Amino acid sequence: MRVLIAFGTRPEIIKLGPVWQALKKRDGVTVDAFWTGQHLELADGLLDLFDIKATFKSGRSVMQQPGLASKFGEMTGQIERALQSRRYDWIVVQGDTATATAAAMAGFLCRVPVAHVEAGLRTNDLQSPWPEEFNRRVITVASTLHFAPTACAADNLRKENIPADSIREVGNTVVDALLYTRKRLGPDYRPIEPALAALPADKKLVLATTHRRENIGEPMRNVLRALRTIGNDGDKVVALPVHLNPAVRKQVLDVLGDAPNVHLLPPLQYPDFVHLLSRAWCIVSDSGGVQEEAPTFGLQILITRDTTERPEVVEAGFGRLVASDYDAIVAGVRELTSASAPRLLAKSNPFGAGDAGERIADELIARALTVGVTDMAA
Ligand code: UDP
Repeated sequence: MRVLIAFGTRPEIIKLGPVWQALKKRDGVTVDAFWTGQHLELADGLLDLFDIKATFKSGRSVMQQPGLASKFGEMTGQIERALQSRRYDWIVVQGDTATATAAAMAGFLCRVPVAHVEAGLRTNDLQSPWPEEFNRRVITVASTLHFAPTACAADNLRKENIPADSIREVGNTVVDALLYTRKRLGPDYRPIEPALAALPADKKLVLATTHRRENIGEPMRNVLRALRTIGNDGDKVVALPVHLNPAVRKQVLDVLGDAPNVHLLPPLQYPDFVHLLSRAWCIVSDSGGVQEEAPTFGLQILITRDTTERPEVVEAGFGRLVASDYDAIVAGVRELTSASAPRLLAKSNPFGAGDAGERIADELIARALTVGVTDMAA
């Protein structure tokens, strides 16, 4: 069996790393990787962390395209050429990025069955998150096998009349990645980023991230103002790795450039981010992946978005939707860091036990052997 895994962004490497590792261990399976380099700088060290070797790389031509549609077209063409260069049984894509969508389109059009990891997430609002909600739907239409991370995601797919026997609820591979990385860090971990040494140990750490396109402007300014107020409290320290998007950077520097007890950090390599998760009291974030990481660490998260396609975080008691509401963010962080609040919640993780990568590998192999994937694609 030969599988092509398509990656382009930081979260895709993190969430497909466990699938790559699980497939690599299996006899009779050859795994290739297509790396589109959508997040070239943010991927620093990550491919190495999971020991991923790119078989195909996009080079600079994708990111030089002027718009999303042309980037998408360039990637689709390149992945098509890779799929035509040898016989593949599966192409595996993850989530809802441009890379995942381009790879799913290329797979479908080349008649290589598409397996979608983290399938079935929906906000039911095509404008939010934009364009990810659109991407997810396109990928679902192109896919033969749908790996849903939770019962709710599987249910979303059944509601769209996706055949039940093509849906597998396996948990979220982010749990596998976190547990793997935490084990590798060990108790005496020394961070890669020197600026982390300046974070005071005697203040409660609030870990924040912000990058969603739909938050840029007034909503992001409100979130940043709330973080500034939290820093002014004096008993807490805010750590904010700043995304490379220039519009995000400008807003962050405008509001927080000189804020006391707010540490603006470069984007952190994943092991450093995992290290901060293990030290944090709570999280303020609009990130999808970070919402899933919070419960794995028992942490609570204030989700700075209007909607979430991960309602399990809220239902399980780990998260609350605060949108860009200044008062709700300030009050929420103060409550979660108050003397009476426990730092960690001892509740079960809605995203599974950390065996999703192995279960996905099992299923890809079983389907290829029993059904014959070429027939499934026909
Ligand atoms: N992350 C990281 N370094 C950082 C910030 C985030 O390694 O400085 C990781 C984080 O642990 C999570 C993933 O990046 O697994 C989330 O990526 P992002 O927020 O960019 O994307 P999203 O999940 O919203 O698609």
